[in-house]
Amino acid sequence: MSPRSVRKPKPESSQPETSSRPLALLQWYDRHRRRLPWRAAPGEASDPYRVWLSEIMLQQTTVKAVGPYFEKFVARWPDVTALGRASLDDVLRMWAGLGYYSRARNLHACAVAVAREHGGVFPDTEEGLRALPGIGPYTAAAIAAIAFDRRTMPVDGNIERVVSRLFAVEDELPQAKPLIQKLAATLLADSRAGDSAQALMDLGASICTPKKPACSLCPLNEDCTARAQGSQETFPRKAPKKSGTLRRGAAFVITRGDELLVRSRPEKGLLGGMTEVPGSDWLAGQEDAAAKQQAPELKGLSRWQRKVGVVTHVFTHFPLELVVYTAQVEARTRAPEGMRWVLIATLADEALPNVMRKVIAHALDV
Ligand code: SF4
Repeated sequence: MSPRSVRKPKPESSQPETSSRPLALLQWYDRHRRRLPWRAAPGEASDPYRVWLSEIMLQQTTVKAVGPYFEKFVARWPDVTALGRASLDDVLRMWAGLGYYSRARNLHACAVAVAREHGGVFPDTEEGLRALPGIGPYTAAAIAAIAFDRRTMPVDGNIERVVSRLFAVEDELPQAKPLIQKLAATLLADSRAGDSAQALMDLGASICTPKKPACSLCPLNEDCTARAQGSQETFPRKAPKKSGTLRRGAAFVITRGDELLVRSRPEKGLLGGMTEVPGSDWLAGQEDAAAKQQAPELKGLSRWQRKVGVVTHVFTHFPLELVVYTAQVEARTRAPEGMRWVLIATLADEALPNVMRKVIAHALDV
């Protein structure tokens, strides 16, 4: 970080009057808050289970995508004790399609821990929450503020954007995070900490959007440095993204009548415990021939058909390209060790990650 690229916030004395910001935010929130399935109605106490579940689901995922999953989860498991009694397989199945499956595994582990070790009651401090599986600093702060009104400010992507614009933070992310955290805390009202946080989240989601922020509707517009400079869209400053190296591999889609051959991925690691069709390793620069050599061996299977095109998928750390091969085998052909046949009609019940849904759709032309 070069000294020229950093503009620390102005000293208190030369800042515009800031003490009214928390109040202005709360007043705006009371009129314009988003209605979200997990959010308590005005004046109602938040349910820590719903807050926790939504925060875990919302990591790396949009509000729109999470809505139906949240409804399904609370309909089936109305409290943390019920979720703690569910099997991991059921939770993974219900989660299928939401991505980042380690979250589902941690969600289940956390529900088990709260049910068994805390009598079904979430700890009400950031420290206590952070001791639970899958709850990092941000999620602990969000639950502590929203569910228990602890005076702490969770800083998500929306809040990062609002704060970096409001104070024109010149440091690049992620190095700017501690500074943004400090500045965000100045926007906490003396009471209603959870509402202060949710107000900033909503402001970022609906007004202070990445492109074309609606500054004329913003309750903080008179105090906003980026707006005064006309440089809103240039914040937050970000270091250029390093995209991972492309990995390549092969997927083998084998049918036996109306059944498909699948296996479960190892419990640990990427897509842990999820269902997949047999496939090769996923390696940078892997040649098609090397990937094809890793095809499973089944009695009577000698002919593979290569599907035209490839299936692409982008994981957080790398993009993936899969060549897909298909084959049919005779009725009663046995599945190789560690694999099983499932009816194609019941695939929706399997914990299939999105990349596998794409592979199967490509292979079966559905
Ligand atoms: S004035 Fe505009 S840029 Fe500044 S916080 Fe409000 S919406 Fe964001």
